[in-house]
Amino acid sequence: MKIKSTLLAVTVATLMFFGQSVVAKDLKIGMSIDDLRLERWQKDRDIFVKKAETLGAKVFVQSANGDATAQISQIENMLNKDIDVLVIIPFNGEVLSNVISEAKKDGVKVLAYDRLINNADIDFYVSFDNEKVGELQAKTIIEQKPEGNYFLMGGSPVDNNAKLFRKGQMKVLQPLIDSGKIKVVGDQWVDSWLAEKALQIMENALTANKNNIDAVVASNDATAGGAIQALTAQGLSGKVAISGQDADLAAIKRIVDGTQTMTVYKPITNLADKAAEIAVALGKKGELTSNAKLYNGMKEVPSFLLDPIVVTKDNIDSTVIKDGFHSKEAVYK
Ligand code: BGC
Repeated sequence: MKIKSTLLAVTVATLMFFGQSVVAKDLKIGMSIDDLRLERWQKDRDIFVKKAETLGAKVFVQSANGDATAQISQIENMLNKDIDVLVIIPFNGEVLSNVISEAKKDGVKVLAYDRLINNADIDFYVSFDNEKVGELQAKTIIEQKPEGNYFLMGGSPVDNNAKLFRKGQMKVLQPLIDSGKIKVVGDQWVDSWLAEKALQIMENALTANKNNIDAVVASNDATAGGAIQALTAQGLSGKVAISGQDADLAAIKRIVDGTQTMTVYKPITNLADKAAEIAVALGKKGELTSNAKLYNGMKEVPSFLLDPIVVTKDNIDSTVIKDGFHSKEAVYK
């Protein structure tokens, strides 16, 4: 049996090698990821690849590690590998128009994953409701600190999501700023969402404000982690309310310890599974279901947006642990 199946595999591989397959051609998906250095994207990759493979596709993955030029050449490389579908998590959603028009000329379908790509002829966008993420962050922080000095820490300035998070945050904060209840004492954006950059920004903000900061609206867990390191050095962690996003394990542990106020849990399995289904449907010209349309400067892009969930100390067990996103042992040990 074993010999037979090996022989079959060799035959199929040989036929595929000469490109004259007598078996159905596998759908080839290229997945171009901004940055696998951040915990969440490793999860996205693993779940996406597994699901796409069960749907009969082959996936080539590359990470640009926060480098726009590298991402463009990696995408060009994938196009040379004759892929059918491109799934892109852009580092900079403003600079991919040309490479995407190359892809479209080759008949390759393009799916923007989690982050929208602007001014480009993309076929579909799948993500969470990112404005809602920002609203949830600000609402939870306001409940904790209804008054005082607020520091705003935006995400990567070239990530469209970072702008949407801020838009959502401001929906909640602006009326309180206008009424004088809260005062914004600083506002900075963190290049590449890197924790070490957030740490420096927070150190400087604390110095500039003589440690007089009551709350930090940080846009994700990586940047919250950096900021909390700076707060800890000043004996302020646990006293200053601070938001996050992604339900990273480190962040959930900080919530248990009381040094981070909240995070936003975005069930990655739902996103990655949905994206894999859409990618395969795009490649096979199957049916696509959307629940939103987002204008990207060039077209109304059919989109599918999922719901984000607030996580605080009170609901860790009934959200991330219940879903198996993190194990109870890992969170509480
Ligand atoms: C994602 C966040 C993530 C951030 C940094 C954003 O576009 O939506 O979940 O924390 O990028 O990678």
